[in-house]
Amino acid sequence: MAGFPSVKPARRTEKIEYAVRDIVLTAQEAARRGRELLFLNIGDPIQYDFETPRPLIEATYRAMCENLTGYSASSGVDEAIEAIRNEARRHGFEPVDIFVTTGASEAIDFALTALVNAGENVLVPYPGYPLYTAILAKLEAQPNPYYLKEEDGWQPDPEEIEAKINENTRAIVLINPNNPTGAVFSREILEAIVEIARRHHLVILSDEIYDKLVFDGQKHYSIAALAPDVPVVTFNGLSKCYLAPGFRIGWGIVSGPKEVVEDYIEAIHKLARARLSTSHPKQYAIPVALDGDHDHLPQVLEKLRRRRDLTYKMLNEIPGISCVRPEGAFYAFPRIEVPGVSDREFVRELILETGVVVVHGSGFGQVPGTAHFRVVFLPPEEVLFKAYTRLAEFAEKFFRK
Ligand code: PLP
Repeated sequence: MAGFPSVKPARRTEKIEYAVRDIVLTAQEAARRGRELLFLNIGDPIQYDFETPRPLIEATYRAMCENLTGYSASSGVDEAIEAIRNEARRHGFEPVDIFVTTGASEAIDFALTALVNAGENVLVPYPGYPLYTAILAKLEAQPNPYYLKEEDGWQPDPEEIEAKINENTRAIVLINPNNPTGAVFSREILEAIVEIARRHHLVILSDEIYDKLVFDGQKHYSIAALAPDVPVVTFNGLSKCYLAPGFRIGWGIVSGPKEVVEDYIEAIHKLARARLSTSHPKQYAIPVALDGDHDHLPQVLEKLRRRRDLTYKMLNEIPGISCVRPEGAFYAFPRIEVPGVSDREFVRELILETGVVVVHGSGFGQVPGTAHFRVVFLPPEEVLFKAYTRLAEFAEKFFRK
């Protein structure tokens, strides 16, 4: 009898790449070679010296003790939805609909799946968080990249965005503050993007999961507040600003004219109903997080600011590497300025030789012909210092080759 043939994965998975996790294989190889690994690759504060605020854990525990352990309403419990509505109002916009999800990741998946047909395209930032291109691949839709550049301080270029629109374009994705560049977008740029969405009838998908992690007194603007007449879905969650990524709690907020977004909202709700609900007890952490005193934040911001300053200083001291100063989130996206260097090769060798784990820039998209890598500056300063010292020694040898 012939053997069972190998199970063929669906073609739609072929284009899905998630560099942040894929790099782990190289790190394992480095560990086998006896390297001490320094992880500057994981956007998870709990892997470093940060802790989930106790009140979020207590609220979840209380809910569990009160037997709130069945499925919840598909789009979330009332207390959480009310807290998210109030938070949106503090950001200056009025929600038409709110849906609570398994991380912002699921909200992003719902918003794209309910909107984009196979063959259509969505404007996505390169560099940008790779989940968007992964979901578009699953939908057999195309990412339509618009490029963020150092010379613009990593701000989007509205003219380029407009030039890329074609008859199959459905939406513009914004990640603000940005992963992986750390840029926080100016009000003028956001207004210019709103104008483009208005003119071309595009939905704006705004990922604001780092909204409270902004340095130097800079102001973060929610684009929905600048676009009451445009359909916008704003994503946020407990993973980053509230230090609870393992809770897997996020949400999407739909805003814009009610009659314009009505059908879209119903499509999102269908998807939400089909998967029953997100984790019920953990939703009770949402009001505690959003309406709480945020007293963990000053300390988090102070730690991150110092780590950002060290990152910016030490990376710019390395010949052949330059780095724009991150204004928010906990990422830097330094550029390898030596011509002809492949970022994949640089990062692979760096990990194997030094144990310093960063992610190659091509995993996030980048201007063709340029080379970058992403650094997570969540680790304590002594770890960062050690990592950048090893990186400097490595780069000196690597660039001479
Ligand atoms: N959006 C951005 C820009 C991110 O960087 C991340 C995680 O790194 C996510 C969304 C995923 O968030 P969640 O943990 O809420 O699914």
